[in-house]
Amino acid sequence: MKELVDLGVMVFRQKNSRGSFKPHLSVKFRSVEGELVTFSIDTTRTPAKYQQPDAYLITHAHSDHHGKSAMLSERAVCSDKTALALEIRHQRKYAGRTFRVGESLEVNGVTLRTFPNFHTVGSTSFMWENELGTRILVTGDVKDASMLPECDLLITEANYGDPGDTTCFFDDDITGFETAFRDNACIAFGAYAFGKAQRTVEMLRSLGYAGIIEMEEQSLSLTRILLEDAGELACIGENCGDRITVVPPWDLDKLPSSVSKYVMTGRNDYRYPSIQISDHLDARGLVSMVKDIDPQFTVVYHPGGHRPGRFAKHLNAIGFNSLPIDGINNVLSNEFV
Ligand SMILES: [Zn+2]
Repeated sequence: MKELVDLGVMVFRQKNSRGSFKPHLSVKFRSVEGELVTFSIDTTRTPAKYQQPDAYLITHAHSDHHGKSAMLSERAVCSDKTALALEIRHQRKYAGRTFRVGESLEVNGVTLRTFPNFHTVGSTSFMWENELGTRILVTGDVKDASMLPECDLLITEANYGDPGDTTCFFDDDITGFETAFRDNACIAFGAYAFGKAQRTVEMLRSLGYAGIIEMEEQSLSLTRILLEDAGELACIGENCGDRITVVPPWDLDKLPSSVSKYVMTGRNDYRYPSIQISDHLDARGLVSMVKDIDPQFTVVYHPGGHRPGRFAKHLNAIGFNSLPIDGINNVLSNEFV
């Protein structure tokens, strides 16, 4: 990994005391002031008896990014809305620092800049520089990369990053969504409580729908707190007869048969018709993101499984030096961090 050495960054994975990998990775570098600094990214907390990273960066509140654990550390860093979402979802108090997406903050002499990536409400990409002037960008999951800056070391995702897999290519079916909305007197959208539910409400409002949207309880509290322009929302059952309902997909069965039901998903294994609306870039979007950001080196750190490897292989083939998380040879156990 000569390239990473040249950039003045050590990327490493940690093992916990049972010998298995902690999720995702950490980066160690010297700050502009010459201090050694470690940032852990979308991983679980290290027990307090061991040396702690300078920050636990939490890109967003989806559970596979492990904010449930990291949020309990005073060294957690996430956006104000990610912190709220974590508190509602996990019924725990967020112990770390927050910012509004777009603001900068200082962590042990390092200026962290933050950028929106439109994956969920509050989702954040982080960028900072080390003493060599290397710009390090951690994207988290990305829906829209247009606000992301150029960088030298890119640490990114590959949720749909396998160019050999046809399911990694899709477009949002905005027309299908609009048609379903216009053609049905009474309609329910199945959408996960965090992420998809807020996106569904935003899309309905952007179509000009100003009426009440009924929601399942957790979707409702998340949407009320996280979305500024959600319009009028009600808990399901409070306003029987409203024409639009948003519930988690598995709650669609509980609704009357007179309601037309759709699932907001790219998957097709539900018993109701699906509307392809994704919270992610597809394979083409991920590749053009990397081209626009134009890094010297890319580390693909998410999700689990084979997709980081496939995406890194593709990036290498088109001329971008890349390494998937599985290829990181630096492994530290808790004791040696
Ligand atoms: Zn996510």
